[in-house]
Amino acid sequence: MFAIISDIHSNLEALTAVLGDIRSRGIDEIICLGDVVGYGPDPGKCLDVVSQNCREVLLGNHDWAVLYEPSRFNASAEAASYWTRMELEREDDQAKIARRWKFLGEREIRFVKDAQHSRDYGCREMVFVHGSPRRPVNEYIFPDDIYNSANKISATMERFSHLCFVGHTHVPGVFTESVDFYSPEDINDVFDISSAKALINVGSVGQPRDRDPRGGYVIVEPDTISFVRVEYDWQKTRDKVLAKPALDDYLGTRLQEGR
Ligand code: ZN
Repeated sequence: MFAIISDIHSNLEALTAVLGDIRSRGIDEIICLGDVVGYGPDPGKCLDVVSQNCREVLLGNHDWAVLYEPSRFNASAEAASYWTRMELEREDDQAKIARRWKFLGEREIRFVKDAQHSRDYGCREMVFVHGSPRRPVNEYIFPDDIYNSANKISATMERFSHLCFVGHTHVPGVFTESVDFYSPEDINDVFDISSAKALINVGSVGQPRDRDPRGGYVIVEPDTISFVRVEYDWQKTRDKVLAKPALDDYLGTRLQEGR
């Protein structure tokens, strides 16, 4: 059994709650699909916690933005990445600064589980990326794409042979080869692994956008994938955002509504 988390976005309260929930289930293998930082108020601590608790951590577009440069970000996301960069430098312990940058800089953009391990879960292949298997860091696969961009879904499905796990949109759910999308609610939070291909969005720990403010993640067991939500103290995170002038207030207030 293992857990997959994504899109923490410097939200330490959500990360702590989700990791607590994962540990309480006796799960010790955690894979993180990226965007550990960006938007939220605690980038350094989130990097420390993720690096200490996750077996694999991939690079997300916000991690890329902080490391290199924001690309096609809106004004508040861009301002948040510049602030995150300064915040990571604003630290007395030089070794800690160096360790965090090194960790970010060493992230890969794609991970594939070894064949034997995949078979143990009833899978031919398990691929993990932040965005999509075509463009691992930046491409968004939205639920609406089943209506607006069926070709994009089909082309995406051609890039893997069985299961692909993504984050990036902050909207959890399952895309199938028949170009359908199922929200966790549609399937009672459980997806049975069959021989058919599926693209699974694990949702977001620190900034859910499906109108549910609780932090989200996924558990993978043999033949089954479960979507989980965890309550956390979003008021505390919101207040930290509101107290930092460089972070747009909306990055705090949106947490309450999960959007
Ligand atoms: Zn994100």
